[in-house]
Amino acid sequence: MMRNERGALPTDVYLSSVSSLYEHRRTLVVGMLSHVATFLLVYLKSADPFYLGCTIAVVILWMLRSLDMARFDRQDFTGADRATLRKWENRYIVGGVSATLTCGIACGYAIAVTQDSFSQLACISVTFASMISLVGRNYGSERAVLLLSSSACLPIVVGLLALGDPFMLVLAILIPPFIFSTWAMANNVRAFLYENVLAAQIRTIAGQFDAALNNMTHGLLMLDGDNRIVVANERACVLLALGDKVNLKGRPLADVLAHVCRRMSLGEEKGGAIARQLDRLVKGGPSHTLVHISDELSLEFSANRRNNAEIVLTFEDVTARVQAEKQILRMVRFDRLTGLPSRDYFAELAHDAAISEGAPDRDVGLLLLDVAEFKHVNDTRGHVIGDKLIQAIADRLRALAGRDAIAGRLMGDEFAVFFPNTVDSADLEERIQILHTGMHGIYAAAGFTFNIVMSGGLVIVKGSDFRFEDSRTKADLALSETKARDKGGCTAFESEMDARYRDRQKLKSDLRNALGAGALSVSYQPMFTPDGARVECCEALARWMHPERGPVPPAVFIQLAEEMGLVTEITRLVLLQACRDCLAWPADVSVSVNLSVLDFRNDDIIDLVTETLKETGLSSARLHLEVTESCLMDEPVKVCAVLRELRERGITIAIDDFGTGYSNLSYLDALPVDILKIDRSFVRNIGDDARRFKLLCGAGDLARALDLKAVVEGVETAEELHLINAYRCADLIQGFVFSAPMPASAIAVLCKTDGRKNSTTTSSSHIA
Ligand code: C2E
Ligand code: MG
Ligand code: MG
Repeated sequence: MMRNERGALPTDVYLSSVSSLYEHRRTLVVGMLSHVATFLLVYLKSADPFYLGCTIAVVILWMLRSLDMARFDRQDFTGADRATLRKWENRYIVGGVSATLTCGIACGYAIAVTQDSFSQLACISVTFASMISLVGRNYGSERAVLLLSSSACLPIVVGLLALGDPFMLVLAILIPPFIFSTWAMANNVRAFLYENVLAAQIRTIAGQFDAALNNMTHGLLMLDGDNRIVVANERACVLLALGDKVNLKGRPLADVLAHVCRRMSLGEEKGGAIARQLDRLVKGGPSHTLVHISDELSLEFSANRRNNAEIVLTFEDVTARVQAEKQILRMVRFDRLTGLPSRDYFAELAHDAAISEGAPDRDVGLLLLDVAEFKHVNDTRGHVIGDKLIQAIADRLRALAGRDAIAGRLMGDEFAVFFPNTVDSADLEERIQILHTGMHGIYAAAGFTFNIVMSGGLVIVKGSDFRFEDSRTKADLALSETKARDKGGCTAFESEMDARYRDRQKLKSDLRNALGAGALSVSYQPMFTPDGARVECCEALARWMHPERGPVPPAVFIQLAEEMGLVTEITRLVLLQACRDCLAWPADVSVSVNLSVLDFRNDDIIDLVTETLKETGLSSARLHLEVTESCLMDEPVKVCAVLRELRERGITIAIDDFGTGYSNLSYLDALPVDILKIDRSFVRNIGDDARRFKLLCGAGDLARALDLKAVVEGVETAEELHLINAYRCADLIQGFVFSAPMPASAIAVLCKTDGRKNSTTTSSSHIA
């Protein structure tokens, strides 16, 4: 029979033994009925109330035992311990012994007291019959067999001895061997059953279990309470690089791990870390743990604790998954083009460096760098070469940042460098300036050379105050200042910038409200013939009267509207108003409307213009549209196509602020334009500055050579006007010398003035 080292049955086998005692209840009923029938019969024959008492006792005992059996059925024995099982075994034995003792006593009474042969025969027959069935019912418990058969037989022995007859004495002596033979029979049945039936089954199950265990994709180690290996499958040996047929049974887990580390030459530190990881797992820390044995091997271990302190460790090879995750992480963390950390990872690195490396009161710096005119590179050389240039810039940045600083690419042509752990801010600023200067210069990419300057914005804060988003916003503000004032320079953040930023945000929200409330208006500035005799066209200029700040310059709010994506709303408004107002002017006076670069990003600018003309009934010949040079540079092909289409519909196109934009004159020839509006910067100081005046004349000559009309903007003084007219630089003059912008009604009056002869006094009274 299968017993453990202490000679006891394994708990699960013991449980089935005890359970077997509570089974076969039908034989119990049959036994009870035969006892009742026998004792009743004896009672009827002998009229001895003792047997009636036996009958009642048998029934009561049967009822009590049935109740107890029902209680047994209701018990949950999952995980039951030996003590519980023994308690139920004892309960059964008490019930059984009570029943057999009743039978035994009835026999003893018949033998010694009534001495009636019928009673003796009936009682002894039914008791010995019960003894035979006792083996079949109770073979599961050795104690039950011994106690039940003893309790049935011993009263018979006592009865026989009480007769004092020598023959009866011999009979009494013969009965105990009978008890022992019953006991031996039950033992034989039990042993046979275990060894030939159960053991065979167990062997089959063990074989199947072994096959299943060794065909698992997971490695499995079962440990006992002392962390010694009880069961190990072949996969475990393979995964731990121990070969496939190593016998690990009985070996402590720590020894096996040490052996694995030696075989894989992992070194003491690594081995110790792995051992600690598994130790935490085994001790019930996390339910699973990922162990990176080497770059080529990562195993994920899970632990499952069983009730008897045994632990099942399962583990699988997750190297492919870990490597895929690493790859994904690398893709997420690093910019694919440059290999620099991308925005989020850069933020993470900067944050970690700010708090871990430097003492909290040391300064750290964040520098944002923007490649000036990078868009132009993309537009003129294409994105592939643009990408190569970005790579070359990233390489230089990485080299200049070195080990002390962290470089990253935030987006497009915007880079960032974080400077951690510096002792004093003067030194830090110097280092940042050196890096910034180093970034300027010649870059070679895809066979081309580019002379690059980079605008910078920087912020320096205490390491403990560093918050990436906050510092980035500040550095961004500083960068915007650089871009606006000093392209290629580097500006440090100042708190006023923050105030300016908030102010701008407030103005943006006010502008949105003003647009919604229709609070914007339009003024017109006339363009005169050089002699000032006649107005040929009026430029429509948007006006915003802020309720608290007064008039806001269009240069300010148009830029805000562009940033907010609302500028086309303003174009729509001005265009409509301009066309309506122009209808009230003499038929030979046109109106000129400014377009924003962003108007060309929408596909419906042509529709907008056409529909407005249709709606107002203004002839297309009376509408001029002004576009700046930068507008043409932004998306040359698209803008040209749109302008050509508009021009074909009879609209006049003017280039505004000529001379301030990108100074590539070669585009002029190909452009569908009619008018060149020479910027007022060419006019300033022409009385004293002969070179500037030559430039102005040159611009006028260029316009004429290209068959374009030249409008000179910003003429303020009579002297300037005189010079311009003396050298015939302009076809039309726009400037304060003749008239400032004024309301539409004033234009109507101006045009009706006798001979429309201009007078500066008239116009200046209408300044809007
Ligand atoms: P711009 O299109 O070049 O308009 C001419 C600007 O020069 C006007 O400034 C005008 O008042 C100013 N100006 C005219 N004569 C003189 C002069 O003799 N001396 C000086 N110093 N300035 C003179 P304003 O109205 O402040 O407009 C500035 C810019 O705002 C405009 O320059 C234009 O680019 C933009 N803008 C104005 N209204 C609109 C609009 O409705 N849509 C768009 N997209 N831009 C607009
Ligand atoms: Mg203009
Ligand atoms: Mg202009």
